[in-house]
Amino acid sequence: TAQEFIEKSFHQLNLHKKKQSTKDAIIQEEIIDGLNRNEFRTFFQPKVFIREKQIEFEALIRWFHPEKGLIPPDKFIPISEKSFVIHNLTKKVLKDAVDFSQKTNTKVSVNISPVVFQNPNFSKEIRKILNTREIAELIVLEITEGIALDNFKVAVNKMKDLNKIGVEFSIDDFGIGYSSLSYLEKLPIAELKIDKLFVRNIHTDKINPLIIDFVIKVGKISGFKVIAEGVETKDHIKTLTSLGCHNFQGYYFDKPQSADIIYEKYSSYFYHNMIENLKR
Ligand code: C2E
Ligand code: MG
Ligand code: MG
Ligand code: MG
Repeated sequence: TAQEFIEKSFHQLNLHKKKQSTKDAIIQEEIIDGLNRNEFRTFFQPKVFIREKQIEFEALIRWFHPEKGLIPPDKFIPISEKSFVIHNLTKKVLKDAVDFSQKTNTKVSVNISPVVFQNPNFSKEIRKILNTREIAELIVLEITEGIALDNFKVAVNKMKDLNKIGVEFSIDDFGIGYSSLSYLEKLPIAELKIDKLFVRNIHTDKINPLIIDFVIKVGKISGFKVIAEGVETKDHIKTLTSLGCHNFQGYYFDKPQSADIIYEKYSSYFYHNMIENLKR
């Protein structure tokens, strides 16, 4: 009967959920062990501001698992977000970002998961790590556009609170969420990152260039920088430049790499030389 069918389906769904949460719990424990064994590394990728000839960096976490090898963040961040584990990972990356920003005297951005931002102790925890103005002023926090949607006031207040100590915010992956364009102007952000999907389809999609053009104009009026992610080719740069976007991040400039490698390149003016060559 239908009743039996429904009951059976629910039973199977619950079994599935149970299995899934056991699996998640195992991985969460492995992440904690991995953190203790130093298996996580923070990589850095340059963000290039052409007109200012300025370089900043984004911190991106990697897991070097002793048996499974390199595990990318997409494979463990979502699972870590289902527990307190994401807070431990975020702290590690923040500390590495602070070290790197102090060493290079450049801004470094750190990705902040929605669950981390939404935690009532968020500002307090951030202030504990970014405990002087010199430290805080070199840190940018990348949040996604949906973060402020359900409780706009609370979100804005948190951001303003951290703005006070010098921390800046950036909207990551812009364009693939559901936020309204008009609310952008009301957020206390210093930067907006156009998602790489937009850049990938920039030459095939008719609407993408219009959206990019619009976002750049809103950025100019509201006073935030606009940077394009996933910039891989010279053609991407040409088209973005023609739309008024002069800030880029992507494989064209460099992929994310270890702090040592990136530091070496940065201090030998590798990225600055790339900017000079682009201008020619
Ligand atoms: P994201 O914050 O949007 O970071 C950009 C992603 O695009 C990175 O992937 C980067 O390696 C990749 N990328 C950069 N340039 C190019 C390009 O030219 N072409 C293409 N196809 N990809 C490019 P990654 O490092 O695998 O990170 C994936 C996502 O995982 C990040 O997306 C971010 O949402 C999350 N993530 C990484 N590290 C952390 C972290 O420490 N904390 C949190 N909460 N999330 C993190
Ligand atoms: Mg990011
Ligand atoms: Mg992201
Ligand atoms: Mg992104």
